[in-house]
Amino acid sequence: MVQHYKMLINGEWVDSRSGRLIEVINPANGELIATTPAAEKEDIEEAVRSAYNAFVSWSNETPFYRGNLLRKAAKLVLERSKEIAEIMTREQGKTLKESKQEVEKGAAILRYYAEEGERVYGRVIANEEKNSESIVIYEPIGVAAAITPWNYPIELLAWKVGGALAAGCTLVAKLPAETPLSPLKFIECIVEAGVPAGVVNALTGYGREIGPYLVEHPLIKRVAFTGSTETGKQILKMCSNDIKKVTLELGGSLPMLVHSDADLDAAVKGAVRRSFRNAGQICIAINRIYVHQDIYEAFIEKFAESTMKLKVGNPLLEECDMGPMCTKRGLEKVERHVKDAVSKGAKVVCGGKRLEGIKYEKGNFYEPTIVRDVNHEMLIMREETFGPAVGVMPYKDIDEAINLANDTNYGLAAIVYTRSISIARKVAKEVKAGNIAINNVDAGVINAPYGGWKDSGIGVEHGPEGLFEYLRPKHIRIHYL
Ligand code: NAD
Repeated sequence: MVQHYKMLINGEWVDSRSGRLIEVINPANGELIATTPAAEKEDIEEAVRSAYNAFVSWSNETPFYRGNLLRKAAKLVLERSKEIAEIMTREQGKTLKESKQEVEKGAAILRYYAEEGERVYGRVIANEEKNSESIVIYEPIGVAAAITPWNYPIELLAWKVGGALAAGCTLVAKLPAETPLSPLKFIECIVEAGVPAGVVNALTGYGREIGPYLVEHPLIKRVAFTGSTETGKQILKMCSNDIKKVTLELGGSLPMLVHSDADLDAAVKGAVRRSFRNAGQICIAINRIYVHQDIYEAFIEKFAESTMKLKVGNPLLEECDMGPMCTKRGLEKVERHVKDAVSKGAKVVCGGKRLEGIKYEKGNFYEPTIVRDVNHEMLIMREETFGPAVGVMPYKDIDEAINLANDTNYGLAAIVYTRSISIARKVAKEVKAGNIAINNVDAGVINAPYGGWKDSGIGVEHGPEGLFEYLRPKHIRIHYL
């Protein structure tokens, strides 16, 4: 049965004024699973007004009160994790295991910000003059807009809901049109935890239609965006009209360096995980692998052997390692990148095409793909592939590898495997990216700042720094009489 989900405005679950609907499709089999409203300008107006009206009382609550509500919401998310994870897998295509981990992470993020909100401290600063001092306090910025993509429908929203609400901001979230269902369930937990009406609003709709109206709304004072670099650049322009505070978490083209002294098995395990998890649809998915020439053949052999063991298919099944890609557009992009590499002389080691057969024909399935002997003329090494295909090429020395890693407009994250502390330090220092993972592939943790350099974004999420993006400092200078 096709279910209908409503959006949240001012504490009420509502349809859009126009009654227009968006269809949510299961990428594994092309089936229609649900409909949601397609929000219009009037719906945005109402949501922003309700967040604006809720701001004064929410920002005046104590961080302890706000933190308790976030902890309650986290508990509800965990209690419903099985149901929410299934919904996520049906709409997004990632395996049930990964969906469950994401939902649990969503709860952990709310708990983290509940605590971090209680630790926002100001400063007392000495003045040169006697009987004078400066006090610095932090105040919530105002109504925030959150815009998120479909690849991590709950996690990326949780970063913004957690940060905004803990800081005392109110929020209007524009959920991704492809995967609005699991985030709506996540928002439901926040409402049921007792967060007052208007503090969080969640709209479903097409970004191109309503995104600009939300971002440019004069009552929006803070914009938190995660998505493509192309859209991010447009949003940055939109924020310049009335100088809004904005953070942009954008695309990447992540390099992995595997040095001659690396623990090869660990590097291969990491490469498999970060190239094919969520079918490669991760901002910090590995796009490009540079391997020292002495271990190039050995690495490729082991990498291919492990990759070919991955079970691709119905993501709801326990044994599945990789599901379909979320969108047809994404599938076509991976195909284009692999074809381009092959036409320019690269060789496919494994994969390289859509999965065939009755089980796959209605879904967006692409084989986990390794392409070797690539170069920087090829799209796979220059653009974000955002799918299950990765290019591998050899290097002679670490300076060459670092130059190759830096030969990109992106700068989100980089990975290096080496046993040498000097090589690790050199890579960490010289690669121009916001996050460096050494002998691991998980460049983001919730209590350390996460953000991109260059075309990968501005500002950070995660950590106290992420919370402070929703606060602004106020300097109070006092002369005591
Ligand atoms: P996208 O930019 O097309 O869409 C992202 C969101 O923006 C969606 O909600 C969409 O509806 C909305 N949107 C689209 N056009 C808009 C406009 N003109 N104004 C306002 N909003 C608009 O991105 P996508 O293809 O859905 O997502 C994949 C991209 O997200 C990849 O590039 C990936 O690397 C990036 N991403 C980055 C991070 C990070 O932390 N840096 C995390 C996840 C994904």
